[in-house]
Amino acid sequence: MTVRFQAFHSIKAIGNREVLFNWSRTNPLGALDQVWRPKNRDELQALLREYPTRKLRLIGSGLSFEPIHSVYAEGSQALLVDLHHLRGQLAKTADTVTYQAGTPLDTVYGDLIAMDRMLPASPGVIGIQTLGGALSTGTHGQGLHQSSLCDAVEALTVMLANGDIIQVDRTDPRFGAFVMGMGMLGVLLDVRLRTVPNRIMRCTKFTTDYPFLLEHNERLNREHGFVKSWWFAWTGESHIWLVDPASEEEVVRYRAGGSKPLLLEEGVDGAMNTALNDTIDATLQKMARDTKDEARAGEHFETVRRFKDASDLVGNVYQILCKGIPAPQINCEVAVPLERMQEALEILQHWQERNPGALHYPFILRCTGPSEAWLSAAYGKSVCWIGFLVYLAADGTFVGGSMEQMRELQQLLVPLGGTPHFGKHLAMDLYDFPALLPRWHDFLALKRELDPNGRFENRWLGELFANR
Ligand SMILES: Cc1cc2nc3c(=O)[nH]c(=O)nc-3n(C[C@H](O)[C@H](O)[C@H](O)COP(=O)(O)OP(=O)(O)OC[C@H]3O[C@@H](n4cnc5c(N)ncnc54)[C@H](O)[C@@H]3O)c2cc1C
Repeated sequence: MTVRFQAFHSIKAIGNREVLFNWSRTNPLGALDQVWRPKNRDELQALLREYPTRKLRLIGSGLSFEPIHSVYAEGSQALLVDLHHLRGQLAKTADTVTYQAGTPLDTVYGDLIAMDRMLPASPGVIGIQTLGGALSTGTHGQGLHQSSLCDAVEALTVMLANGDIIQVDRTDPRFGAFVMGMGMLGVLLDVRLRTVPNRIMRCTKFTTDYPFLLEHNERLNREHGFVKSWWFAWTGESHIWLVDPASEEEVVRYRAGGSKPLLLEEGVDGAMNTALNDTIDATLQKMARDTKDEARAGEHFETVRRFKDASDLVGNVYQILCKGIPAPQINCEVAVPLERMQEALEILQHWQERNPGALHYPFILRCTGPSEAWLSAAYGKSVCWIGFLVYLAADGTFVGGSMEQMRELQQLLVPLGGTPHFGKHLAMDLYDFPALLPRWHDFLALKRELDPNGRFENRWLGELFANR
């Protein structure tokens, strides 16, 4: 079988087998001869019915850090099912769109803008995830007045482990389980999303200090549409984006420019800006050392460089917020209840003082409102997601002590109710999931009922749900 992968997929040889790795190249997902791309749902259904015990995991774009989607250690019969062919728009109404789950988010966003619509959920940093993959791990953006992508879903079509196809909408009491099912309850086939009119937004950028961040971050999040903060804890500087509806005059200028992102002359100003530029230069130097890239050729440098002399911007939400530069990294994100955000910042500030020179990327703070997804850290409550990451060198290695650092930071947030993002790195032994996620056991019971043979389970997931 010859399978053509996307440019961001990563394939390496292990022994005499060609193996597909996750996007960060840290975990083998399956040998290429285990990858299967059904051409349509009938083929998938036939397989599920003909081989009722055969293990399979679904793969979207393979971005998740942990082996959540891996079949590499499950024996040669296990299949890595790639829904590459199950993509595209199926239907649209005045306020909904329906897509096959293998559709990349970028396609959904592009189509919506062409219709002058958007989702009632802020996008994440990138849009190369598939719709099914992004939902299944609870992918989110920022903004207290919305939650995750899951919360923009109206209904799902799901193929169960026995091949049956069911519809799950918001009236179904199991909706919150299926919408972020980690690929354990069934195969998401179609997703109906709610849409709202497209609003042109203005992103106001400024740099402030740690005391301001500590005192005002929650207020800013309450007062503004979407707020994102990058906190350079080693200097205290915080670079903040506030995204709100643009003025009429800004919208006219944006439209006159062909609806391309409109850079405004106003930008981060004065002394704080100059200081941040110096911090960025120092950060780039450290990053170059840590990633063995003194020539600074890697894409990861751009993720910091872009904060230099940043200008305010007018555009649609995707032009403003979904412009991340996907450079291979160990990324980790832990949500703390919103009311414990200040405490979390203070704890991280003390850690920083004890560990000067450890980080090469700022902490990323993104608050979101309550989610309906049972396995989301934001289930039923507002949270602040705290992201930290380490970029990989071109040879796939990372600077010594990185995993220990990731563990230590997670450990600090656990006592505050810190709960991890399942699509990113997590040290699973640190978390008491049933205590953190009130619907954990309900999810587990549903999984056992729908997939009694555990065909959608792999070792990593088995461990995650074992004895909890
Ligand atoms: C550079 C980078 C930036 C990121 N930015 C953000 C961000 O801003 N916000 C955020 O919240 N997360 C972010 N993430 C995390 C990312 O959104 C998740 O890892 C997401 O799950 C990846 O989607 P994918 O299509 O690659 O899915 P995969 O990683 O391939 O799969 C994820 C899970 O979904 C399951 N799955 C896939 N398709 C289906 C289906 N059709 N039906 C059922 N289950 C399915 C898989 O089995 C697996 O369990 C980022 C990750 C990276 C690497």
